[in-house]
Amino acid sequence: MDVLAGLLLIGLPLAYAAAMAVLAPRLLTRGVWRFDRPGLCLGLWQVALHTGLAGAATSFVAAMWLAAVLVARSTAERAGWVSVQAVVLLWVVLAVAGVVGVVVTTQYRRLARDERRARRGLSTLEAEHGIHRAVADGTSITVVESPRAVACALPGRARAVGCRHRVLVSSGLARSLDAGELRAVVLHEQAHLRLHHPLLLRLARLNAACVPLLPGPRELERVSGMLVELIADDAAARHCGDLTVAGALTTIGSLEGDAAMLLRAERLRARRRPRVRRGPARPVVVASAPGA
Ligand SMILES: [Zn+2]
Repeated sequence: MDVLAGLLLIGLPLAYAAAMAVLAPRLLTRGVWRFDRPGLCLGLWQVALHTGLAGAATSFVAAMWLAAVLVARSTAERAGWVSVQAVVLLWVVLAVAGVVGVVVTTQYRRLARDERRARRGLSTLEAEHGIHRAVADGTSITVVESPRAVACALPGRARAVGCRHRVLVSSGLARSLDAGELRAVVLHEQAHLRLHHPLLLRLARLNAACVPLLPGPRELERVSGMLVELIADDAAARHCGDLTVAGALTTIGSLEGDAAMLLRAERLRARRRPRVRRGPARPVVVASAPGA
């Protein structure tokens, strides 16, 4: 009975994990509902990912438990054949755990190294070419001298005292947009930071790097990048209105030759949701210190 229960505990969660790996890419990559409800779609992806991983972990723990039961039983009954089964199962489980641990650790270190390098590059750019600095809603905003029309968000480190989230906006972008559109860009980047999108994207990248042969993790990485952009667009549009965000996306997409941004602008124009939160226009740069 113990062995049967153990086999069920190994098989069922593993079957669930496999079902998530196969079904999620098929069910969550179809239909226009993903573009209307990107938050729901990303949430379902996260549920599929985390419950699938939990299923695989449960299966692993059950295999360890079954091996321990078989070892204890074989020792008590002095049954050599059970002992062989237990030892084989134990070695298989330990080998799988070792391989998984090495792969996850190696890929995590590689991704962390790439992120540190990118962060250092942006920090250097901010320090050497920052021409205006301000703080808005707890976020440090820096305009960086550059002809490109780009903006990006840098999450603050939780353990670092006084290290707040940062948004970098190129001067080329600031010159190309009107005040409302520029505010929409900053709100878009702040939404990425507030909703922990960098962390979600890191998990999706790590998942895809650890299991490169399965379609599910690759799809999750691909769609996560798109969905977080739509979610941030919607967050900005709730404050500035769809048309303002669409105008900013059109300008950036045209200047940078980014067709995906033009499609995101079309999505917002097609919806034309009226601005929900009205109020006095707040300047993007609350207080600036040229050259600081
Ligand atoms: Zn974005």
